[in-house]
Amino acid sequence: MSVSFPLSRGRSTERPKLPVASIPEGMPRESSNPYHNALQQLEIAARHLELDPGLHEVLKSPERELTVRFPVKMDDGTTRIFTGYRVQHNIARGPSKGGLRFSPQTDIDEVRALSMWMTWKCAIVNIPFGGAKGGVVCDPKALSLAELERLTRRYTSEISIVIGPNTDIPAPDMGTNAQTMAWVMDTYSMTAGHTVPAVVTGKPVAIGGSEGRSDATGRGIVCIAGEAIAEFGMKMEGLRVAVQGFGNVGGVAARIFHEKGAKVVAVSDAIGGLYNEEGLDIPALQECANRDGSLTKHTGGVPIDPRKLLELEVDVLVPAAIENQITAENADRIQAKIVIEGANGPTTPTADSILKQRGIFLVPDVLANAGGVVVSYFEWVQDLQFFFWQENEVNSRMEAIMRKSYADVRQMSRNAGVDMRLAAYLIGVKRVADATTIRGIYP
Ligand code: GLU
Repeated sequence: MSVSFPLSRGRSTERPKLPVASIPEGMPRESSNPYHNALQQLEIAARHLELDPGLHEVLKSPERELTVRFPVKMDDGTTRIFTGYRVQHNIARGPSKGGLRFSPQTDIDEVRALSMWMTWKCAIVNIPFGGAKGGVVCDPKALSLAELERLTRRYTSEISIVIGPNTDIPAPDMGTNAQTMAWVMDTYSMTAGHTVPAVVTGKPVAIGGSEGRSDATGRGIVCIAGEAIAEFGMKMEGLRVAVQGFGNVGGVAARIFHEKGAKVVAVSDAIGGLYNEEGLDIPALQECANRDGSLTKHTGGVPIDPRKLLELEVDVLVPAAIENQITAENADRIQAKIVIEGANGPTTPTADSILKQRGIFLVPDVLANAGGVVVSYFEWVQDLQFFFWQENEVNSRMEAIMRKSYADVRQMSRNAGVDMRLAAYLIGVKRVADATTIRGIYP
């Protein structure tokens, strides 16, 4: 039997340096490391909140980090070692919650950042969870279904010492889906000796998933966009929208924008993008993407570079792909009136400052894409009670939470005279800091 080594081998551990234009004095440092960016965002909030330095240290540090290296039998009979992580950033407000990312680019710092963003996200929408995230360094597109199943089951077994319905509840993220969650639930349940649906959310409805979960992140984004455009006196009808990313977040958001009468003029996936001034036929594009594995084969528009899509003159831009898309290099070319962050961490802190100076209204990831984890919370509650809700009830409850959270953040932004990201952080970080203070430090 041959043993080959982790996929990360041979991959440079150095993150690519972001091309930096001249960054004006006093602006945050530009970094492509998401954890550095997450720490910078926290630092800005801590300064505004005049947070006790000890408490700031507590919030900077992920509480628990597990790295696992595990073998998987490949279809060709060889064995490969994979590296996986589960990071629990904070549990002051409840069990930790957050997705599992399968990606060749993931590493411990990305998972740390994503876990910290989950802590703030859950606090901002006021659901009783802390933040966590997991990841496996792998390219899921290069694995067969059987290999993916074996990888998921072994990874679940490795992290089962830290996950559980009362402790830490995974969910889908990039590179994982409802089927992955079904394998996680089944593997965990086999060891427990009974079915534990609440160990994971984003499962298929047939095994305790929630109605509305698969569309929840995209639906929440469109709901938040609706609140934001109303302030600008704009309507959904005819709204010009560009969406970067065509997966479970961008694809669903594009579809719902289209259903509500918006003109989605550009979308892109990992391979390329498509532009049509008159608005793209999103259902047809979706069919094409499902059939061909990419939307780029569709003929209903002209090709556009996904990076250039970000610079289109649109009403609403939704970066819903990966981190570090709006940076110091391109922030001064963004022409959208409103940016609604669908991905986690698509805008660097330096780019944030540039957009703010240029008067572009940005709704941050920790608010804009929280619809997913809100419905994950509903799924967890339904699983614990073995009592399930109708889809319209799920959607309307989620939208009510999103609208209230938007209103709270907007009010904070007005009262404190700060941008929407900082306003969201002032609410989220304070809730977590308060919970920590009220609980006290053990022993
Ligand atoms: N991965 C999603 C996020 O980044 C969902 C997490 C969850 O539902 O727990 O918000």
